[in-house]
Amino acid sequence: MAFHSEEDSSDGYLFKIVLLGDSGVGKSNLLARFARDEFYSNSKSTIGVEFQTQKMEVKGNKVKAQIWDTAGQERFRAVTSAYYRGAVGALVVYDVSRRQSFDSVGRWLNELHTHCDMNVITILVGNKTDLKDAREVSTTDGKFLAESRSLFFMETSALDSSNVNAAFQTIVKEIYNVLSKKVM
Ligand code: GDP
Repeated sequence: MAFHSEEDSSDGYLFKIVLLGDSGVGKSNLLARFARDEFYSNSKSTIGVEFQTQKMEVKGNKVKAQIWDTAGQERFRAVTSAYYRGAVGALVVYDVSRRQSFDSVGRWLNELHTHCDMNVITILVGNKTDLKDAREVSTTDGKFLAESRSLFFMETSALDSSNVNAAFQTIVKEIYNVLSKKVM
């Protein structure tokens, strides 16, 4: 498998994970909530982070998740190949209140698989579950798509924090499980 992981002598393994999905689905806010417990209601964070590194523990072992944000590149359909390089995991995010963002998921998966190994560990994330009255994508539709493409699945809200940590923890745990069998 074309997985890469870097060993860091002090802090265990480093996993590169990329955030993908249409503009406005909440990628930056998911990362801000997970890494800094922050939320931005209107504009982007002024920090303008390209990636954020989080120390985590899986089964008592230290790992570092280096999570990359597109920082708006996708608005111009120009996510560079450098963005994908070396990624072992991906969160493909849509907005449960915007059907169009769900319809784009297939395109994001194709792009991911053009640049990364087919087996790159991927979780499908339906964000903005707090917008209950505006829902356009049911949980059943999300689950069905995830199952048909062999993806993990979770619905989140970066606004009210629901399942945000769980989504990142799921992907890091699964990457660890696969890598510990194949590489470590
Ligand atoms: P990105 O372009 O995918 O990085 O999306 P952003 O993180 O910039 O979010 C786009 C907009 O959606 C911003 O106005 C956010 O405040 C809002 N947003 C992000 N996540 C949520 C969420 O879980 N619930 C609600 N209601 N709004 C959200």
